[in-house]
Amino acid sequence: MRPADEVVDLVSALIRFDTTNTGDPATTAGEAECALWVAEQLREAGYETTYVESGAPGRGNVFARLPGADPNRGALLVHGHLDVVPAEAADWSVHPFSGAVVDDYVWGRGAIDMKNMVGMMIAVARHFKRERIVPPRDLVFAFVADEEAGGAYGCGWLVENRPDLFDGVTEAVGEVGGFSLTLPRADGSEARLYLIETAEKGMRWMRLTARARAGHGSFVHEDNAVTILAAAVGRLGRHRFPLVLTDTVGAFLSAVAEETGHAIDLESPDLDTAVAKLGPIGRIVGATLRDTANPTMLAAGYKANVIPATAEAVVDCRVLPGRTAAFEREVDEILGPDVEREWITELPSYETTFDGDLVDAMNSALLTVDPGSRIVPFMLSGGTDAKHFARLGIRCFGFTPLRLPPELDFAALFHGVDERVPVDSLIFGAEVLTEFLQNC
Ligand SMILES: [Zn+2]
Repeated sequence: MRPADEVVDLVSALIRFDTTNTGDPATTAGEAECALWVAEQLREAGYETTYVESGAPGRGNVFARLPGADPNRGALLVHGHLDVVPAEAADWSVHPFSGAVVDDYVWGRGAIDMKNMVGMMIAVARHFKRERIVPPRDLVFAFVADEEAGGAYGCGWLVENRPDLFDGVTEAVGEVGGFSLTLPRADGSEARLYLIETAEKGMRWMRLTARARAGHGSFVHEDNAVTILAAAVGRLGRHRFPLVLTDTVGAFLSAVAEETGHAIDLESPDLDTAVAKLGPIGRIVGATLRDTANPTMLAAGYKANVIPATAEAVVDCRVLPGRTAAFEREVDEILGPDVEREWITELPSYETTFDGDLVDAMNSALLTVDPGSRIVPFMLSGGTDAKHFARLGIRCFGFTPLRLPPELDFAALFHGVDERVPVDSLIFGAEVLTEFLQNC
């Protein structure tokens, strides 16, 4: 059996495990059951597997290693997370945990993020073992918990407490990248680009606190914590951080211009408009042109006629590589002296170069299955487990190969209602991943 023959069934089966990550360890369930099932699929093909719970009962992870031809080369980590974000069944066309195959799509929570890749990984791993295929170097397959809540009960814990699981690993592939973007050329034909993730913005969640004098709501009271905080939050939320063209985003936009024949002026202060023209993908790329700070939570007060002594807000900040110090200075200037800030979550940015043997292997695998296409680097505005692996010195790429229908709004499917993946894309992905891992 080839990977393409079983990948659809595997992805459907994975979606039927409800591995909803609520963000609260007490109510998050399903990862262990799913992980043990993955281990069973691998053992059936002849693997020895390692099952680990990361930081709390039920946070299941599975590892399997396939020895390669050259033990002196660093190992390649191939990773996928088993947890998914919540889904409200009433909003969906099909049940989000059905894994139903309808209209040539596999439907369900995780179909794109990222049980698609997990299914491909299992299919390819089983194929290699059954056919006694020896990859050029060791492959470490990792199926992990808690990505959707930042990885404290997943890769964050594993990297801290079980670095032995990553022994000898020098590079890694996982989400979010390897998918196609079809763009019209000036001559009427179409260019198909495959976006390889080589960079991620940093994720920093900030708590703001204003402290002032409590008092009666009927008095003249100029020193009001709610007013002070609200004004600062308003200033920060409306602020536009400066345009900073990183190497990764610059390389992406140059490649787009070259392939489509539509010039993009990288020096233009209005680069946002050019990026918006890329269609839905412009939402991701647009968010990598500058730092962002979006207020997301507010809390103050306990009674309508009592002025509280404190008011609080939480702001979701996403910071470009190399911008941390400048970002903090800018934020402090906007906030002013009356509001305290503290970082409640800090995951650093990440950026690697778009070169080397592994990038060449991705390129040739894609060209074998989709001749005439082109790979380009891109930066993700969000974060993945790559941030944790990077702490071990591992060079990370987002490479989950999928050839997508040009009209599909791929970006909207992540955490979206009616998340689904085309059957053809899964089969394509399994073929590319097989080719890639045989020649990595
Ligand atoms: Zn994901």
